[in-house]
Amino acid sequence: MHFIDLESQYKHLKSKIDKRIHDVLDHGHYIMGPEVKELEVALSEYVGVKHTITCANGTDALQLALMALDVGEGDAVFCPTFTFFATAEVVAYAKATPVFVDSDERTFNICVDDLERQIINVIKQGGLKPKAIISVDLFGLPANYEELQKLASKYNLKLIEDAAQGFGGSINGRKAGSFGDIATTSFFPAKPLGCYGDGGAIFTNDDNLAVLIESYRVHGKGSDKYDNVRIGLNSRLDTIQAAILLEKLAEFPIELENRNIAAENYNKTLSDRFITPYIPDGYYSSWAQYTVVSDNRDMEMKKYAAEGIPTMVYYRTCMHMQTAFKYLGYKEGDFPVAEKLSKQVFSLPMHGYL
Ligand SMILES: *Cc1c(COP(=O)(O)O)cnc(C)c1O
Repeated sequence: MHFIDLESQYKHLKSKIDKRIHDVLDHGHYIMGPEVKELEVALSEYVGVKHTITCANGTDALQLALMALDVGEGDAVFCPTFTFFATAEVVAYAKATPVFVDSDERTFNICVDDLERQIINVIKQGGLKPKAIISVDLFGLPANYEELQKLASKYNLKLIEDAAQGFGGSINGRKAGSFGDIATTSFFPAKPLGCYGDGGAIFTNDDNLAVLIESYRVHGKGSDKYDNVRIGLNSRLDTIQAAILLEKLAEFPIELENRNIAAENYNKTLSDRFITPYIPDGYYSSWAQYTVVSDNRDMEMKKYAAEGIPTMVYYRTCMHMQTAFKYLGYKEGDFPVAEKLSKQVFSLPMHGYL
């Protein structure tokens, strides 16, 4: 049994994906070929945003978002401590300061009450300028954007949605990737929508930000790539990956339904044994992971392993306890909910072909 069954998906889509790949081999535009634009248009339509800019991976997508929002030294960027490393890494890489926030006990997403406490704290202490929030749609469930947007407006902060896991999720029909000033996603193979390598995308409704991000993506280009008006990156999505994603995106709504059916079945069978995922009213998860809480995690995982069922732990170490963030001076006990989750959660197999 696979934790994420990319093999069944490929078998199911093989003829379509193979044809798309061969079309690229035939036309030979490996970099920024026509499939890249085609995918960007299809993604904008799917997510319901004005602009999609694809890029090399989900980490670059976050980095490009921070560059476009001019985040840098002296800025405080608030993000959950219970997330994948990249969410906080890009903040530090931009020379800004990550300010961690505890998790909501039920949704596992950023806790809006603790977020406001942390913002007030930074203002009181002085020194850092509160600049932006990066919220994460953890395990596929969109964060509480109604409250997050209120806080962003109240404290004049930019809001970035890290939808690397949330792509496909929604709140009252509004899709993940459409919240905040800029949203980002990843097409890493194991994500809800994955390619056959690295890939990512940035979503925004803001024309000016879109122009900036397009420029930063290709060496800070101006009128063409040999006219460089700012310092940027080389962060393009390969044409072949765009071609693969076009076929996977077409199948994605069906896979998403299958994931939700699988999650319902898990809920039914497992809710008397574990704390099963909580999905608030009006929310729809893309089920990047199906994650349960158990106070006897190691033993439960061993039982599954004995049955040949793979399980994984996302995430064993909160950001405030990572070696790389030692310099920030956090200690164990600073974020009790997130720390408890890091000790008790584990994830079961989840994909559209379960
Ligand atoms: C996977 C992931 C990323 C980074 O995406 P890559 O494509 O691997 O760079 C960022 N944030 C979250 C929450 C992720 O799960």
